[in-house]
Amino acid sequence: MARPVVAIVGRPNVGKSTIFNRIIGDKLAIVEDKPGVTRDRLYGIGEWLTSEFSIIDTGGIEIEGDDQIMRSVRAQAELAIEEADVIVFMVDAKAGVTPADSEVAELLYRAKKPVVVAVNKVDNLQRSDDIYEFYSLGFGAVIGISGSHGTGIGDLLEEVVKHFPETTEEEYGEDVIRVALIGRPNVGKSSLVNAILGEERVIVSDVEGTTRDAIDTPFEKDGQKYVIIDTAGMRKRGKVYETTEKYSVMRAMKAIERADVVLVVIDGEVGIIEQDKHIAGYAHEAGKAAVFVVNKWDIVEKDDKTMHQFTQKIRDHFLFMTYAPVVYVSAKTKQKLHKLLPVVNSAAEQHALRVQTHVLNDVVSDAVAITPPPTDKGKRLKINYATQVAVKPPTFVIFVNDPELMHFSYQRYLENKIRAAFGFEGTPLRFFTRKKS
Ligand code: GDP
Ligand code: GDP
Repeated sequence: MARPVVAIVGRPNVGKSTIFNRIIGDKLAIVEDKPGVTRDRLYGIGEWLTSEFSIIDTGGIEIEGDDQIMRSVRAQAELAIEEADVIVFMVDAKAGVTPADSEVAELLYRAKKPVVVAVNKVDNLQRSDDIYEFYSLGFGAVIGISGSHGTGIGDLLEEVVKHFPETTEEEYGEDVIRVALIGRPNVGKSSLVNAILGEERVIVSDVEGTTRDAIDTPFEKDGQKYVIIDTAGMRKRGKVYETTEKYSVMRAMKAIERADVVLVVIDGEVGIIEQDKHIAGYAHEAGKAAVFVVNKWDIVEKDDKTMHQFTQKIRDHFLFMTYAPVVYVSAKTKQKLHKLLPVVNSAAEQHALRVQTHVLNDVVSDAVAITPPPTDKGKRLKINYATQVAVKPPTFVIFVNDPELMHFSYQRYLENKIRAAFGFEGTPLRFFTRKKS
C-alpha cells in the first residue's frame, strides 16, 4: 500500500523544519542508530493513530533571481501542489498574515488540493486568539501549534489524515513485479528503461486499465510480468523546481511507495554522492526490496579489481543496505543487461518470502545458544519465541521477557543469523519485540 504524501509549505522561518522534525521524531531516533543514514533529512515517515504517511518539508528550495524568496516559496508551493495528497500551509502567529502568505494562499487555492493551515508559534494561551486572522486566507481548517512546545501537533495531524485519499485499490495483480528506477538526473534511468524494453523476448504490453498513471510501463519477459513505475518522473518537463533535489526526492518517494523492487541507479563514472544516499535511504525505510545498478560501466576505466572496489564503496556508503545486490551494466552497450531482471526476480521473491515458525525458532535458539543475550543492569533478555507476521518486507515479532532489554546490536546479531539461514538477499527485514513471559 502506498503511503499518502504530505507536504509542508510556507515562507522561511515560520517553523517548517521544526515541525517536520517533531512529526518524524520517533522514527528518526530508530533510524539514526544505524550508521550511514544522514541527519540532513529531506523526507520522513510520520504516523498518526493507524495512519502512516510520507512527509516532506519543501523549505530550502532555492530559486535564484530577483525576489529570490518569493520565487523559492512559489516553487515549493507548486511542487507540493503537484505531488502531495495533503498540503500543510504553515504561517507564523507572531507575524500575522503577510503578503507572501497571501500569495502562497492564492496558488494553493487554485490547486484544489486539501490544505490545512498550521499557525505556528502559538506558544501560550494569549496567543491562541491570534489564529483567527488566518481564516482570511480562505481555507477551512486552521490549527494553532507550537514547534517550541510541541503542542497542537496531534490536532494538526488529526486534521491532515481526514483528507487522505480512500485506500487505493491494488493497481496490478499479485503476479506483477512493480519496479521503480530511482537515482539522480543523468545516471541513465530512461536509457536503462529503454534498453530493458528493447531486449530480446521483452513484450511491451498495451497500457490497459491503468487509471491512475497511464505512464507506467507494463511488460513481460520469460513468462514474468513487470511494470516499470512512474517513468514520467524521468521526463524532463522544464518546470523551475524540477532541477531541485527536493523535487527528485519527492518523485522518487512516490515511485518507491508503489514499487516492490527499487533499482537504485548509480552513475559508474561519477561515483556515489550524498544525494544517492537520501533516496536509497527512503527505499530502505519504506521496506522495499532494493538492487544497486551501477550504470555506464562501458566508460569506466577498469582492471580486474575495479568492480570489487566499487562494490566496497557502495557497502561503505550504504551501511544500512548490505542486503542489496550490486549489478554492473551499460544501458548504452547493453553489456550485462541480461543479468538485471533475474536479480530483480530474486529480490522480489525474497521480499515475499515466508519462513515457517518452527524453522525460524530453531535458527533463533541456535543463535541464542551460541551467543546468549547480554545482561543489562543485572537483568538478562530472555527470548521466548519468534514468528514471521508479514511479508513485503518480511517482518518478525520476537517475544521476550522485557522488550527494553533488546538492544540494537543483539537484534542485528539475530538478523544476521536469520539472513545466514534463509537468505533474504535484496530485502530489508523488520523486527518488533513484544513482551511475553
Ligand atoms: P523554516 O525556515 O520554516 O523551516 O523554520 P525553522 O523551523 O527553521 O524555524 C525558524 C525559527 O523559528 C527558529 O529559530 C525556530 O527555533 C523558531 N520556532 C520554530 N517553532 C517555533 C515556535 O513554536 N515558537 C517560537 N517562538 N519559535 C519557533
Ligand atoms: P536519466 O536522467 O537518469 O533518465 O538519464 P538518461 O537516461 O537521460 O541518460 C543521461 C545521459 O547518460 C544520456 O546522455 C545518455 O546517453 C547517457 N547514458 C545513459 N546510460 C549510459 C551508459 O550505459 N553508458 C554511457 N556511456 N552513457 C550512458
